[in-house]
Amino acid sequence: MNEGCRIEVRGTVQGVGFRPWVYRLARRAGLAGRVWNHPEGVTIEAFGGSGSLESFVQWLRDDTPASARIRELRLSKIPLEVAEDFVIEPSEGVGARALSIPPDLATCDKCEEEVLDPNDRRYRYPFTNCTECGPRFTITTDVPYDRSATTMHEFILCPSCEREFHDVMDRRFHAQPNACPECGPRLSLCEPDGTQMILDDPLATAVGLLCDGAILAIKGLGGFHLACDASNARAVQELRMRKHRDEKPFAVMVRDLAVAASLASLTTEEKLLLASQERPIVLVERRPDATLATEVAPESPVLGLFLPYTPLHHLLLREVDRPLVMTSANIAGEPICKDNAEAVVRLGGIADALLVHDRNIAMRCDDSVARVIAGKATVLRRSRGFVPRPFQLKEAVDRPVLACGAHLKNTFCIAVEDTAYFGPHIGDLETLASMEFFEEAVDRMQTILSVEPKVVAHDLHPGYMSTRYAKTRWASETIGVQHHHAHVVSAMAEHGLRGPVLGIAYDGTGYGNDGTAWGGEVLLCSTGHFRRLATFRPIKLPGGNRAMREVWRVALSLLHDAFSGDAPVDDLQLFQAIPDESIRVVAQMVGRDLNAPPAHGIGRYFDAVGALVLNRPGATFEGQVAVAWNVIADLTERASYPFEIDRTGLLHVVDLRTMVRAIVEDLTTNVAASTISAKFHNTLIKATATVVRGLGDVIGRPPVVLTGGVFQNPILTEGVLAELRNEFKCFTHSQVPPGDGGLALGQVLIANAIAAEGSTPCA
Ligand SMILES: [Zn+2]
Ligand SMILES: [Zn+2]
Ligand SMILES: [Zn+2]
Repeated sequence: MNEGCRIEVRGTVQGVGFRPWVYRLARRAGLAGRVWNHPEGVTIEAFGGSGSLESFVQWLRDDTPASARIRELRLSKIPLEVAEDFVIEPSEGVGARALSIPPDLATCDKCEEEVLDPNDRRYRYPFTNCTECGPRFTITTDVPYDRSATTMHEFILCPSCEREFHDVMDRRFHAQPNACPECGPRLSLCEPDGTQMILDDPLATAVGLLCDGAILAIKGLGGFHLACDASNARAVQELRMRKHRDEKPFAVMVRDLAVAASLASLTTEEKLLLASQERPIVLVERRPDATLATEVAPESPVLGLFLPYTPLHHLLLREVDRPLVMTSANIAGEPICKDNAEAVVRLGGIADALLVHDRNIAMRCDDSVARVIAGKATVLRRSRGFVPRPFQLKEAVDRPVLACGAHLKNTFCIAVEDTAYFGPHIGDLETLASMEFFEEAVDRMQTILSVEPKVVAHDLHPGYMSTRYAKTRWASETIGVQHHHAHVVSAMAEHGLRGPVLGIAYDGTGYGNDGTAWGGEVLLCSTGHFRRLATFRPIKLPGGNRAMREVWRVALSLLHDAFSGDAPVDDLQLFQAIPDESIRVVAQMVGRDLNAPPAHGIGRYFDAVGALVLNRPGATFEGQVAVAWNVIADLTERASYPFEIDRTGLLHVVDLRTMVRAIVEDLTTNVAASTISAKFHNTLIKATATVVRGLGDVIGRPPVVLTGGVFQNPILTEGVLAELRNEFKCFTHSQVPPGDGGLALGQVLIANAIAAEGSTPCA
């Protein structure tokens, strides 16, 4: 007996070849009916025998295209209609919210094969794509997602491409960015001053230049990279010099997993992450025999590797046949460079040539970064490949909310109903250019979501540029959210936890309710409220922000505290290189509380102890010493240092002064730095577990969540989990970054709760 069925599909189901796939399934099942796109997703109406309908629904559930994400499939019975055929109907609902623009999708296997096949019409064509792969978010200018609302609108399809575009059985049916060498974007190679070189094969010339050790600016999906041969020390050094770059590691692109495995020792999880469709930069451990210039990642055994994600990358990497440094072309805190003319101005002084093309980038989108922590893929920077993929919330927000994020590593977030959307990684809001990018990106996301949130959340820090933006924006409610509360709630949201939870929020710094810098916090949290239950004894930061770079100042302050004002500077090598006068002045600042604000951040302990043991008086970027200190730890060392916990007040305070004195003793008796590092980590792990157990004895056994930038450190995360896992249910980040890049999600939910209750968030 024939019947009718309506199927409502929600999720990322537009721009991913979803309707043609439905069409093919319907034909296979012998059904009649229709499918169409609309602002909320896709609707299918199908008519046929009940058995056929059943198999059709089963296929829908089981066999979804790789790039689609079905969040919800709702079935209802409808009256039977006499329909002859199954058809794809035109999209409806112009102007309404397009919930389902997909992120940029890495080149699929079929497109890769075509590009490498000398007999294919797309042989060596760098802009090949299909419904399962290619640019999406970065070329989208408006909704609904149609070619006319992308930067591909200026390329007129040739007859062959037109045929593919309209043939429902073709892989390129309705592939909006469809292109070929006849009709699509073209590559060109330019001199540093922007003059286009007259060449038959710009790609081959670019390959030759890279092999000869040149530095190229290469236009990618969401912006430019600066590239050079990663095995050529001179080239990498030259790039570092021209970029005026500190010692931050450069990301390296390799042609495939086999090359990746020759450079780093990879676990199965790491291989899966490297090959995942999002194609993030994956932090992995360098093999000692890796044939890479040491200048790629000076002093660091951790490498950032990634695989090609556009046909241009595949062609380049195959033809140069060696790993390439591919670092985001962003100079001195500015956003990643995206336009050709802008590239000439900003990169002309760095690159020997520019490999560009004539498809415009509508929205900047930096590469994402991920790492396997405690056996689980963890996104550390959520951007290209992820944005604007929806993040499902456990409960809907009452009204749309915009959360402005942090000041450094900024990412904002917009929530509408039961879905949150992260914006792209903006970076540090330290320059006018990055502030402009922030505002432009917020505007673009509002356009493609068709919302203008009136509830705006921001950090409590009055000096953050994101806070200032929030306050100048017209909104019915502007809500300040405590930094670490936001970290914890962002982790809760990943796991659908309502609270209460014990949130362990460790980071460098975040503005506390008392106006001091927090960052070693144990908070009892629900979405709308928190109580600060424990913290770490603060370290005074002589000179405030200056101490982040001149880390010897933090080390001196730590010693001053641990040795009751009598820091043993003469016994310690770190201070040999520091002028006596500077030491005296800084000691005075600490002793007399002059411009030496207290900070509870765990990151400061890493800076101070790292500086002391590694004899590193300065850092060229924030967190440099902490990372160098972390990676040398000898993982076979099980010992730890003594510590104390002051439980006299309502707020428990971890006191590490005994640890500091023991470290000085180890240093003066020449204990290896790798041993001290391991014992230091073990101490933090033990102290954390002891605090949590102590609190657990009083408040019971709520779930524990680990959050904050310090938990990007696998040793600490894995150590704390191993200590607590048997007694508490423990949760860590995965899809949302533990660092400040994930903060905005927590801000969204807390602001929504506060707006609903009219309550104050803390006690
Ligand atoms: Zn493809
Ligand atoms: Zn064409
Ligand atoms: Zn933070």
